[in-house]
Amino acid sequence: MIGYQRLCKHEQCPVTRDGALNVHIIPHSHMDAGWVKTFDDYYYGTKSSVSSANVQLIYHSVLSELLHDKRRKFTFSETAYFWRWWKEQRGTTRATFRSLVAEGRIEFAGGGWVQSDEATVDYLQLLDQYTWGLRKLNDTLGPCGKPKAAWQIDTYGHTREHTSLLAQMGFDGLFIGRVEHRERETMIEEDKMEFMWRGSDVLGKMSDIMTHTLYNLYNAPEGFCFDFLCSDEPIVEDPDSKSYNADKRVNDFITQIERQAKYYDHDNIMVTMGGDFTYQSAANWFINIDKLINHVTTHPANMSDINIFYSTPSCYLKSVYLYGRRDKALYTEKADHLPYGSDVNTYWTGFYTSRPSLKYLSKRAHAFLQVVKQLSVLSRMGDSYELHLLRHAVGLVLHHDAITGTSQQRVANDFIRILSEAIEACSKKVSQFLSVLTPTWGGSRRPKNSQQFIICHQLNISQCRSNVLWTLEISSP
Ligand SMILES: [Zn+2]
Repeated sequence: MIGYQRLCKHEQCPVTRDGALNVHIIPHSHMDAGWVKTFDDYYYGTKSSVSSANVQLIYHSVLSELLHDKRRKFTFSETAYFWRWWKEQRGTTRATFRSLVAEGRIEFAGGGWVQSDEATVDYLQLLDQYTWGLRKLNDTLGPCGKPKAAWQIDTYGHTREHTSLLAQMGFDGLFIGRVEHRERETMIEEDKMEFMWRGSDVLGKMSDIMTHTLYNLYNAPEGFCFDFLCSDEPIVEDPDSKSYNADKRVNDFITQIERQAKYYDHDNIMVTMGGDFTYQSAANWFINIDKLINHVTTHPANMSDINIFYSTPSCYLKSVYLYGRRDKALYTEKADHLPYGSDVNTYWTGFYTSRPSLKYLSKRAHAFLQVVKQLSVLSRMGDSYELHLLRHAVGLVLHHDAITGTSQQRVANDFIRILSEAIEACSKKVSQFLSVLTPTWGGSRRPKNSQQFIICHQLNISQCRSNVLWTLEISSP
């Protein structure tokens, strides 16, 4: 099942130790593609009075810190942000980034254009957003950039259909964060935090994927968030300092990870170190995690033999598959994990129908995308900037705070703007495609592409100009 490529040096995953508790530290940042700020505002850091999040700074800061120490690793996810950043980088920065990917020190998880919602989207929308994201990773980073772990850490419930798609796409495992609160209690009581999820009875094993429920949503253990967004104490390990706290802090950490280890049925555990838009100041995280790793390794409380190291989701999967010892077979799950309930009176079902206009526009834009893709191939005019805009818009709006309607009003308005502008641009492009495909013969017996087409998106409600030569109605599915 695991096809780790020698070229990409994934054999450099940390070495686990039999008999020890192997603790995989996973530095990562969850970057919503629009929520309280728009996609652009998050990327550039504008609207700082609303939120200080600044994605371009996270990329630069992480890159710089990884270069300081070869042990450090980092996991990125949302390809839409990566592509925005990549386009603005010089050749030397790109080469550095590529080499870190090849060394397995930067890893992409998921790799879709966004971390898509699963409840309000359909099969073909999912295929398009994964295709677009994974293609961009392949175009920029090559085979080493191919994600091996699916990463749905913040979506509001999960479907088996999505799971089936992930299994068929060849992911080695799936990581999820949000599970209905009673279901989670059962999982903890019955050792089901990891399970084999069968996406389809018809496809059988082809639709199986090993699924890991993250212990702490996707955040750092309590008291160990080393971001300027948090107020947790840094680790001080100089015994001459009056602020020395390393022993106490490490005791707290060991207590937490030993508690977590009880709920996973083998000798590897995964500790996410990050959160929403963390690592803008990556030095703060890495300096403290370095100290944590050093001190846990040498601390007298480490009686149970803890082997702790920087890791990635794919290295965790590799350890569990190849070296992990499990006492019993994995439980097989065959149901959806919907609706998501965060506590007794809080079930996240309103988003199935909220912001219906945005949901409708998203479906309609996706249907139009199929038309534009097919005409661009038939007319042999190839990829275009306009088609890129529409692929971006259609993928972006599947983000779990976009089509769900959980973003702020001005952000929802921006999603509608992005979709509308992309549709408008592609409508003009489609006119060109049709013109090329229906040549008329001029006096010199040479074909002339002179026919004009106007795309009317409101033909069914009689709002089209009547004096146009051709109209084309694009219906939603
Ligand atoms: Zn999110």
